[in-house]
This record gives sequence, structure tokens and C-alpha cells, in this order.
Amino acid sequence: MSQEEEYKKKLSPEQYNICRLGATESPFSGKYNKHYEKGHYDCVVCGQELFSSTTKFDSGTGWPSFHDVMNSKNVTKKDDYSYNVHRVEALCSKCGSHLGHVFDDGPKPTGNRWCINSASLEFVPEKT
Ligand code: FE
Repeated sequence: MSQEEEYKKKLSPEQYNICRLGATESPFSGKYNKHYEKGHYDCVVCGQELFSSTTKFDSGTGWPSFHDVMNSKNVTKKDDYSYNVHRVEALCSKCGSHLGHVFDDGPKPTGNRWCINSASLEFVPEKT
């Protein structure tokens, strides 16, 4: 079985469409939009650590939003010209899965807004 076939088997149809085909979940529909527990959010496909709860904020957009990544090596940025608009796509650097987009209208200290699909993430609670 190819890697892609394995992903298709492992993921739900929604997760597959978003992570592997670049779709976007409907705003306010994702399970992590209003989720504020302490921990980190990993790639749902390969488990790579992506975002920390310490950088999560409510952007009002309906998607989980972070002002920074945990490790810049773990997220790849790529120019995206779909819909004739220039945006910067965010992908998992390990497995290439689509996560969302990053915009420059976020809060301090970074000024970035990582707008990420809940379906691309798996939350891991902080050990207490
Ligand atoms: Fe990944």
C-alpha cells in the first residue's frame, strides 16, 4: 500500500480532504476553535509537534489561531495563489500535510496569525 493509501485509510474523509487535498473546514465547525486547555497540538497525520496552547488566541475567525509555531523547523511555508489571492500556506514539514494559512495581522509579540484547521491537529494535554 502506498503512503497516500495508508493516510486515506487512517484519516476520516474530512481529515483526508483537508490534510492531503488542501480543503478548509467550515468556520466555527472545528473541535479546537474554542479549545483552551494546556498542552500542544500535533499533526494529526504524522504526530509532529506543531503549536503550543500558550500561543493560542481567539481570532474570531472560527478557526484555531496561534501567534507562533512551537518550532519553525516543523512548519513549512509555501506561497498559495488559489482564488487569485496571494496567501501563505502552512504545511507540516514532516509529512507535507496542509494545516492552514499564516497571515500578518496577528497579535503581539509576533504579529502573525496562524489560521489552522482543527481537522489537521491532534491535541495532547500537558502532563500534570
Ligand atoms: Fe505531519
